[in-house]
Amino acid sequence: MTALPVSPWRVSMTTIRAVKAETPGVTTYDLSFDDPAAGYSFLPGQFNMLYLPGIGESAISMSSDAAEPGKLRHTVRAVGNVTRAMERLLTGDKIGVRGPFGTSWPVEQSRGNDVIVAAGGLGLAPLRPAIYHLIRHRSSYGRVTVLYGARSPADLLYTDEYEAWHSAGLDVQVTVDVGSADWQGSIGFVTTLLSRVPLEPTRTDVFTCGPEVMMRFIASGAVNRGIAAGRVFVSLERNMNCAVGLCGHCQFGSEFVCKDGPVFPFDRVRRLMHVENI
Ligand SMILES: Cc1cc2nc3c(=O)[nH]c(=O)nc-3n(C[C@H](O)[C@H](O)[C@H](O)COP(=O)(O)OP(=O)(O)OC[C@H]3O[C@@H](n4cnc5c(N)ncnc54)[C@H](O)[C@@H]3O)c2cc1C
Repeated sequence: MTALPVSPWRVSMTTIRAVKAETPGVTTYDLSFDDPAAGYSFLPGQFNMLYLPGIGESAISMSSDAAEPGKLRHTVRAVGNVTRAMERLLTGDKIGVRGPFGTSWPVEQSRGNDVIVAAGGLGLAPLRPAIYHLIRHRSSYGRVTVLYGARSPADLLYTDEYEAWHSAGLDVQVTVDVGSADWQGSIGFVTTLLSRVPLEPTRTDVFTCGPEVMMRFIASGAVNRGIAAGRVFVSLERNMNCAVGLCGHCQFGSEFVCKDGPVFPFDRVRRLMHVENI
């Protein structure tokens, strides 16, 4: 299932309504469309091309609730031209949006199943819309577990939401690679959390996003625990330009990450997942 843009080339202007510093170098922007009739909607896991006039475009996943498409939210790590320029923007500034693009987390297909959401670092951003969906439709799913790992406590995203996710009936488990003086939680990789969680392989779907090496370990850990590779979904990142499968920048074997992904079943991409970004 894919939500499609009105036109893949049309840039809709948005205004920044709020800017929130999340973790070092990572910021969340709340955007609203200048034209309320923009006719925009998206599915959890899809992405937009965010456009800064005179600078360029970057692929950035939606991190907000797809049930409220008018309240668009993106969480961005400043790494290069566009994202560093974005870091200087303030409330009231403009960002162009082209999208939505790509495939989504299979939240409808997973109805009735247990779901494990496994995120590493910034990988929680594209998964947060799936978490909101699972909460909104909580009774349609079995056991829902969120496993989240970051490098340090200071790198954990959305810490003010975990309690609400837990209260909504999700099992939320958080770990860090390296603790701090006041960290009393788990220390270790998110892959270790997966090895400990109780699961019924024939009724469990896994959605994972994070550094590619982490997704490979999560996906193979799930498969080793008896979950079919086709029930494990990974979200891949590749350099992207057009976002509609024309320019070839994000080609990945016979797949284009922009239109055949970014969310893929692991069995479709596992042989390619060692291929470096170009
Ligand atoms: C489908 C999809 C969804 C994405 N969602 C998000 C998102 O929600 N939030 C987000 O922050 N990013 C996201 N990205 C990554 C983002 O598109 C890239 O980081 C993009 O290159 C940033 O554009 P830029 O012009 O700022 O940097 P560029 O000028 O393109 O890149 C500058 C340099 O940074 C390096 N670089 C690129 N990405 C990273 C990284 N992650 N860490 C360290 N160095 C890096 C590049 O190799 C390059 O050398 C997503 C990418 C894809 C394909």
